[in-house]
Order: sequence, then structure tokens, then C-alpha cells
Amino acid sequence: MPLRVLILGGTTEASALARRIAGDTQLAPVLSLAGRTTNPQPQPIPTRTGGFGGIEGLVRFLRSDGIDAVIDATHPYADQMSTHAVAACRETGVPLASLVRPEWQRHAHDRWQVVADTEAAAKSLGPAPRRVFLSLGRQDLHVFAGAPQHHYLARLIERPEQTALPPDLRLLQARGPFDRADEERLLRDEHIDVMVSKNAGGTATYAKIEAARALGLPVIMIARPHKPAGTVMADVDACVAWLHGLAPRGV
Ligand code: NAP
Repeated sequence: MPLRVLILGGTTEASALARRIAGDTQLAPVLSLAGRTTNPQPQPIPTRTGGFGGIEGLVRFLRSDGIDAVIDATHPYADQMSTHAVAACRETGVPLASLVRPEWQRHAHDRWQVVADTEAAAKSLGPAPRRVFLSLGRQDLHVFAGAPQHHYLARLIERPEQTALPPDLRLLQARGPFDRADEERLLRDEHIDVMVSKNAGGTATYAKIEAARALGLPVIMIARPHKPAGTVMADVDACVAWLHGLAPRGV
């Protein structure tokens, strides 16, 4: 029997892992998406969508679907899902590995102010009106309603559902990867004077950080939350090797 693998996804790394193991006869993977995006990218392996129902729900899923291994490839800021994965895998004895994207490192000309969370980012914009580029998820935008004096340009994959949004907000719907020259043009054309970003890591959205550096723009960088992890993997190759190490021989 092939090894039944649950991949917790919603990231470019999870999709890359799915592409890599599609057709691997030693593995029977299923990719799990939270369902935040109504039009997710097509995937080459079976996919399920929606929350499991907390730790208990995930424990039930692992047992009912006969899952042999879990790879947590969720976003570095998706800390609740990772906490649940650690707890559920501990309870069921299912091996867990986490695919963790390295953080972006501050370069000499970066003007970063690192803050603890989205609320601290909104506060640190200060009292004087500014033109702010928000490169965050749609679930984060309502926090900036508490700092209504600023003009916001928010780039999102999908329109937000919340009603409590900042009054002076323009939405830009786009999905990465983005190009550095385009990012510089956007920041210039929109007369942006500060950017708010998460330290997502990876290459898909790094161009905005390079553009801010080139233009001398300050970046309010929201620090990563603490995420518990099982065995930590740095890349897709390491995950595949780990899975093959668990897979029964000769399938
Ligand atoms: P979160 O706060 O860690 O999780 C909240 C709840 O959403 C979880 O308890 C779980 O519900 C459900 N969930 C999260 N990821 C799931 C998955 N891959 N499959 C099934 N259920 C999942 O997560 P989040 O920050 O809202 O992120 C949601 C998704 O968006 C994740 O897949 C993440 O990789 C992706 N994403 C997040 C960010 C970000 O900045 N946070 C950025 C890009 C992509 P139950 O308790 O009901 O199981």
C-alpha cells in the first residue's frame, strides 16, 4: 500500500510539493486547503477543502482517512493550523514534518521597523496621514480601520468580506509572483511613503521588498508568530526524501 500523506497547504511550497509527488507510486497524497480563496490554483493531486474542526476534527480525519504522515506546508503566519497539526499528530502517533520557508533577512539599505503584530503595525503608522501600501491578507485589513487618517492601497488575491474597513482604501486584486520593476512603478505612481508587510520569505513576493529598498521606503515588518513544528524541512526535496524514508519498500 502506498503511504497516505496529508499535506496542509495554501502556499507555493505546498503546490510545488504536490507537483513533485504527483504520480509517485509510493505515495497517496491529499492536499488540504483552508478554503479562503474561492478560485484556488488547480492542483495535480487529490484536494480537500475547509477546516477540520479543531484538533479533535483533525484527529478524526487522520484516523478515518488512514493518514500515515503529515506535512505542514502552511504559511509562516498560519500558526493555529500548525498548533493543531502538532497536537493531533502527537495524539495519533502520525509522523509530522513542517516545510518552513526561511525568513527574509534585512539588508544594509533596508529601512525596516519590526513590530509584533498587525495591531502594532497600524499604531506605528503614527498620527499624521500617510500613503500606505498594505501587502497583507484580507483578514488583516479591518485592523487599519483604527487608523482612518491614512490612505491605504491594499493588494489582495480576493476582495475582503468585512465591512469594517478603513475609509480611504483602494483595493488592487492580483496574485504573485510580482516583478521588481513593476513593484517600483506601483510604489512610485501611487506616491506610497510606507509599506506594511509580513515576513513571508520565499521569492514570489520578495520584489516589493527590493523595490522598497531601491526607493528608500520604510517597511513596517510584522514579525513571524511562533509556530510549533515537527521535523523541520527546508525544501521540497527534503520532504520527498523524508516521505520515501517512511514509505514501505517495493510498492
Ligand atoms: P490559521 O489561522 O493557522 O488557521 C485557522 C483555521 O483555518 C484552522 O484552525 C483550520 O480550521 C483552518 N485551516 C488553516 N489552514 C488549513 C488548511 N491548509 N487546511 C484545512 N484547514 C485549514 O490559518 P490562516 O492564517 O487563516 O491561513 C489559512 C490558509 O491560508 C492556510 O492554508 C495558509 O497556508 C494560507 N495562507 C495564509 C497566509 C497568512 O498570512 N496567514 C498567507 C498566505 C496563505 P479548523 O480548526 O476547523 O481545522
